[in-house]
Amino acid sequence: MATQPVDFFSQAESLGLEELHLFCDPRTGARAAIAIHSTRLGPALGGCRFLAYPSTEAAIQDAMCLARAMSYKAAIAGLSHGGGKAVMIRPQHLPDRRAYLEAFASFVQRLGGRYVTAQDSGTHVSDMDTIAGITPYVVGTSKDTGDPAPSTALGVRRGIEAAVKFWLRREGLKGVRVAIQGAGNVGCYLAREMVDLGANLILTDLNKAVVERIAQRFNAEIVAPDAIWDVDCEVLAPCALGGVIDSHTARRIKARIVAGSANNQLSEPDVAKILQERGILYAPDFVINAGGLIQLAVTNADERRDKLLGIYDTLMAIFQHPASDHQTPVAIAERMAETILYAHSEGKRSAVAV
Ligand code: NAD
Repeated sequence: MATQPVDFFSQAESLGLEELHLFCDPRTGARAAIAIHSTRLGPALGGCRFLAYPSTEAAIQDAMCLARAMSYKAAIAGLSHGGGKAVMIRPQHLPDRRAYLEAFASFVQRLGGRYVTAQDSGTHVSDMDTIAGITPYVVGTSKDTGDPAPSTALGVRRGIEAAVKFWLRREGLKGVRVAIQGAGNVGCYLAREMVDLGANLILTDLNKAVVERIAQRFNAEIVAPDAIWDVDCEVLAPCALGGVIDSHTARRIKARIVAGSANNQLSEPDVAKILQERGILYAPDFVINAGGLIQLAVTNADERRDKLLGIYDTLMAIFQHPASDHQTPVAIAERMAETILYAHSEGKRSAVAV
C-alpha cells in the first residue's frame, strides 16, 4: 500500500515553526534535523536527542513538535529564550560517536547562535563537552551547568506537590502512592525526591536490570511496563518517552493525577479531555518539566531556585484558573504561554491558536 507523502511545510506552518533544517555528513554518517520554533523571546534553546527512529519522517516530526513545546516551556517559565530542538538519527552501526557529534556541532555552529543545544534523551554531559569543542552554542557541559536532570526532577516534585494539594486536598506526600514510568535519569532523581517526602513508590522500566537496581535502592514495588496504567495509586509520573498517553491508555489509568517529566506525553490534544472527563488531573508537561531548562538558562543561583520552586505556583494558577471548569489544564497553559510569546506582536499566528 502506498504511503502518503509527509508535507513538512504544512506541518511547520500549523505548529508555527520559524525554521526547519536538515543536515547530513556522509563521512561520519551524521543525519540531523534542527527545528527552531521561535526566537521572539531570545535564541532558541533545546536539547539534542540521539535515538534510532523508525523513519526519517518520525525523527523530523519529533524535532518539530518538541521545538514548539520548548517555546511554550521557556515562555511560561519566564525565560529569555525561544524554543528549538535537534534530533540526531542514531544509525544501527556507529563506529565513531565523537566524529558524529562533532559533525552535529558544526551544523549547530552554522546556525550562528539562533539555536543553542543541550543534553536530551540519548546524550550525556560528556557529549556536550565534545560539542563545545566545535561550537559555543551549547549549554549543560561539565564546565557550566552540567546534567539538568536533578533540576527537572525537583520541578516535577514541586508540580506533584501542587497537584496533590489542589486535587486531593492533602498536605505533603507522606503515604501517597506514586508510580514512575521510566527509571532513567530524571525518574531516578524523582524517586529520591519522592522517597524523601515519604511517598510509596512503584516503578517500571523497559530495562529490567536498571529498574531492579533502582527499586532496591528506594524500597519500591516493580511492575511490568504495560501494567503501569493499571496501578492503583494517587500519582502517575510518566518519565520515559512522549506519546505514551493515548485514547486507550488514558482510559486505563487508575491514578487520580498524571504529573511527570516526559515531553509531549499526550499522543494527541484530545487525550487531555478524556483525562478531564475521567476526573484525572493532568499537569501539562511543558510546565512541570521546565526545571532542566531553567537550570540551563538561568545563571544566577537565587533566580534559578526561585523559578524552580515557582513551578508549584504556576501549576496552581493553571489548576485554579476560572476557565478550568470547561477547559483542560493543557489548553489553559498553552493560552498563558501564547500570551507571553506573542504579547509584542500584531496578534498571534492563527496556526498556533488553541
Ligand atoms: P532517560 O533516557 O535517561 O530515561 C528514560 C527511561 O525510560 C529509560 O530508562 C528507558 O528504558 C525507559 N523507558 C522508555 N520507554 C519506556 C516504557 N514504555 N516503559 C517503561 N520505561 C520506558 O531519559 P531522561 O533524561 O530521564 O528523560 C525522561 C523524559 O523526560 C524524556 O521524555 C525527556 O525528554 C524528558 N525530559 C528530560 C529532561 C532532563 O533534564 N533530562 C528535561 C525535560 C524533559
